[in-house]
Amino acid sequence: CGIVGGVAERNISTILLEGLKRLEYRGYDSSGMALLKVNGRKDETPNVEIIRYRALGKIASLQQKMQSGSQTERGRVGIAHTRWATHGVPSENNAHPHICNNQVAVVHNGIIENYQALKTLQIAAGYRFTSQTDTEVIAHCIYHHLQAIVPSLGQIKGVQATPVELLQAVQKTLSLLEGAYAIGVISPCTPDTLIAARKGSPLVIGVGFGEYFIASDVSALLPVTQRFIFLEEGDVALIQKDALQIFDVNGCLAERKEVLSQQSV
Ligand code: GLU
Repeated sequence: CGIVGGVAERNISTILLEGLKRLEYRGYDSSGMALLKVNGRKDETPNVEIIRYRALGKIASLQQKMQSGSQTERGRVGIAHTRWATHGVPSENNAHPHICNNQVAVVHNGIIENYQALKTLQIAAGYRFTSQTDTEVIAHCIYHHLQAIVPSLGQIKGVQATPVELLQAVQKTLSLLEGAYAIGVISPCTPDTLIAARKGSPLVIGVGFGEYFIASDVSALLPVTQRFIFLEEGDVALIQKDALQIFDVNGCLAERKEVLSQQSV
C-alpha cells in the first residue's frame, strides 16, 4: 500500500523507516525493507548482497528487527514497503520486498491481474515461490529477463550488469503485466541503481542533492526534500544518486517537470 526507496551517498535506512511511518495513514498489515549491503574492503572487488527485513504488524516491529544495539541496519540503496494484502494472507512471508535468487528485490503496490498465468509458466520453468502474493511473479520475471541478457547471473558470484540491462529486464517484465502497479526494484548486480515504475498506482520521485528518493506520496519524503517529479502513467525511471532518466510508456526518454512542494514537514 505504500512504497519508499532511495539511492544516496549516505545511509538511507532511517529515512526509509521514517517514510514508511509517514505512509501509515494509508493502512497496512505488514512492512519490509531491502538494502544493498556492500561487503569487503575498499581495494577489493565489492561483494554486494541484498539484506531484507520484514515484519507483520507495526513498523515499530520492523524497526526493532533492523536494530542491533543502538545501530540500525545501514545501506545507501534500498526499497521499503507497507503492505495491504490483496493476494495472500497478511504474514511475514507475504510481506514485501520479494526477492528472486538473491539477485532481484521488488516492492509493489497494486494488483497484477494475470499473475496466475505468469506463475504457472514460472513454476514450469523451475522458479520456486515463497509467498502467495501476486507480486512475486514480478521478481521472478525481472530475474528471468535479466538472466537472458546476463547469462552468468546467479551462476557466478559478483556478476555485474549495467543499469540499462536491468532497465531492459524491467521494461520487458512490465510489458507482460496486466493490472495496476507502482514498483521499486534493486539488484546487487547493479549496486548503484534503483528502478521505479508506475501504472495505475501513484509514485513520486523526490529530488535531493546527489540523491534521489521514491515514494507513494510527497508526504513520505518531506523530511529530505521539497523537490518532486511526478511519474506519469506507464513511466519507468532509471535512478542513480547523481542521474535520473525517465522513459515513457513507449520506452522513449521523457521530460518531466520538477515541482516544488508547498507542504511543510
Ligand atoms: N497485491 C500485492 C500484495 O497483496 C500488493 C498489495 C499492496 O498494494 O500493498 O502483496
